[in-house]
Amino acid sequence: MNKFEDIGLNSQLLMAINRLGYEEPTEIQSKIIPHIMEGKDVIGESSTGSGKTLAFGCGVVNKVEEKQGLQALILAPTRELVDQVRKEIVKIALNKKLHITSIYGGVGMGPQIEELKRTNVVIATPGRLLDHYRRGNINLKNLKVLVLDEADRMLDMGFIDDIEKVIKACPKERQTLLFSATINPRIKTLSARYLKNPVDIKAEKYVDPSKLTQVYYDVNKNSRISLLLHLLDEKEGLAMIFCNTRKMVDFVTKNLRENKISTVAIHGGLTQNKRTNIIDQFNKGKFEVLVCTDVAARGLHIEDVSQVYNYEIPKDPNDYVHRSGRTARAGESGKVINLLCEYDHDNFGRVVNEYRNFNIEKMETPKFKRIFAVGTESFGKPQFRRGPRRNSGRGNGRPHYNNRGKR
Ligand code: ADP
Ligand code: MG
Repeated sequence: MNKFEDIGLNSQLLMAINRLGYEEPTEIQSKIIPHIMEGKDVIGESSTGSGKTLAFGCGVVNKVEEKQGLQALILAPTRELVDQVRKEIVKIALNKKLHITSIYGGVGMGPQIEELKRTNVVIATPGRLLDHYRRGNINLKNLKVLVLDEADRMLDMGFIDDIEKVIKACPKERQTLLFSATINPRIKTLSARYLKNPVDIKAEKYVDPSKLTQVYYDVNKNSRISLLLHLLDEKEGLAMIFCNTRKMVDFVTKNLRENKISTVAIHGGLTQNKRTNIIDQFNKGKFEVLVCTDVAARGLHIEDVSQVYNYEIPKDPNDYVHRSGRTARAGESGKVINLLCEYDHDNFGRVVNEYRNFNIEKMETPKFKRIFAVGTESFGKPQFRRGPRRNSGRGNGRPHYNNRGKR
C-alpha cells in the first residue's frame, strides 16, 4: 500500500500529513499504521530515519481527546529526542487542541509540574518521568496509549528499571507501541512481559554491518573535489554523494558534470514531484551519481547503491546512519567513503562517539590530480570576527564554523 489514504487514517490525520508535505508513507508506516489504528499492540523494527515517529504519532493523536487529562505517554532516551518527537506530534495534532508536553531532567521541576496538570500527551525521558510520578505530580489513570520509542537505546542507556516502574504505574487496559532500530533478546523479554499479543512489524532491509566497509580520508578543503573525482574513477555501480547544504550540492554537481560524470542532483529547493522523477531515473540507471542533501533524500525510495560518499559529515549522527543505510542492503556489500576537512571533525567525532561499534578505517590519501574547480565551494562560513575578540567562552582559537544553510 503506497498511499496515506489506504492505511486507515481519518481525515484529521490525512490533513496533518498533507500539511507536513509527506507524499507517501514509508515502508514501516504503511505496514504498521493499519495495526496501530486498529488499537493493537505493536513492535516496530526499522532503521533510523525510516519515519517511526509519524507511525506512532498517528496512533497517539487518534486516541487522545481534548481535555480529559493525560492519555498518552511516550518514553524516549534523550532530551533531544523528546523535543524532536514533541515537535512532530504537535504537527500531527493539527486542528486538535491537545496539550503536548516535553519532560526531561536537567531543568527545573516547577514549570513541568504546572504543565502536567493540564497536559494530554507527555513525551519524556524515563528518569524524570518516574521522578514526577513518585512525587505525585502525574496522574496516569486515564492513560490509553504508551509508546516506548528507541527501546534499544533506552535499554543500552540503563533505563530498564525506570521503564519497568513506569509501565507498572500505567493502567493495564492500554495500547502499547514499542519501536526500536534493532530487536534483541532484552527487548523481546520486555515486550513479552508488557505487550498484549503484539503484531511484529519489520521494515526496510537494513544495513548488514559485516557487508559495510567504512573509510575516511583527511583532505584539505581546497583539494576535496579533486580527491572525490579521483575516488569516483574506481567506483563500481551507482553512487550517492551527500552534502550538508544546497549550495554544496550545486558545486559538486557542476564539477562532476564538468568532468564528464553523468550526475543528477536533488535538494530541498526542488518540488517533491521533481525529486521523485529524478529518483526514478536514477533507480533505472540513467545516471551514475546522485548528489543530494539529507533532507532531500528523506522518504524517497532509492534503490541500493554500491557507494555512499560523504562529501561533508552531517551534523546529526543519525543522518550518518541514514546515509549509510542507502548501501549494503539485502545482502549486497557496500562502502561508505568519508572525505574529512578540518571543519568536519566535530561532526565526525560525534558519529564515532555515538556509534562506537562502527569501524571506520583511516585511509592514506592517494596521489591525485588537482583540477581547477568551477565555482566556489561554499561551506558553512567561518565566523571571523573583526576587531578585538570578545570572550565568547569558546576560546579554542579556532574559527567557529557553522553548518547551517539551506538543505
Ligand atoms: P525514525 O524515528 O524512524 O528514526 P523519524 O520519525 O525521525 O525516523 O523520521 C525521519 C525523517 O523522515 C523526519 O525528518 C521526518 O519528518 C521524515 N518523514 C517521516 N515520514 C515521512 C514520509 N512519509 N515522507 C517523507 N518524509 C518523512
Ligand atoms: Mg525515532
